[in-house]
Amino acid sequence: MPKPATLPTLPPSLDPATVCPPCGKCCRYVAVGIDGPVSVSGVSTALWLVYHRNVTVYQSHDGDWFVLFPADCDNLLPNGLCGVYENRPFLCREYDVDGCEGTSAEPPEKVRFDDGAALGAWLREKRPALFARCLAAGILPKELTGAGPVKARRRRPPARS
Ligand code: SF4
Ligand code: SF4
Repeated sequence: MPKPATLPTLPPSLDPATVCPPCGKCCRYVAVGIDGPVSVSGVSTALWLVYHRNVTVYQSHDGDWFVLFPADCDNLLPNGLCGVYENRPFLCREYDVDGCEGTSAEPPEKVRFDDGAALGAWLREKRPALFARCLAAGILPKELTGAGPVKARRRRPPARS
């Protein structure tokens, strides 16, 4: 039976504040990996995500895609330190301080979409072939095609039986 992986942990004598400026920025959101807007189906899913207020889709500098939900961790202390440091989840232990949003001047993401307009504009400019396929699939509202705003249409009332 393989031995379980050893996780990196700080010696108990080491104050976390000395290895990580406790800005707490990495404890104020949840980011989950997704396929990203690299296919018609991926664009459709990414659009659905960013149509929701405060939900962001971004690509990391490594090229991976994520959906991000802003949300403070319950264990984040007012001084920016972790209230459960010795027992924190594996994801927190594996987080790399090098180049994190608290220590790097670079934006943490390569590409970022906070709403459908940003995703539509990126597709139009950077992925014209995929943009055309999405247009043909009927998943791009006119507001996202560069054709100008259109009035919202009323939903069709339910059929009577
Ligand atoms: S963003 Fe970086 S510097 Fe700030 S708390 Fe997280 S790991 Fe530390
Ligand atoms: S458990 Fe601690 S390190 Fe992990 S997100 Fe919460 S406050 Fe941050």
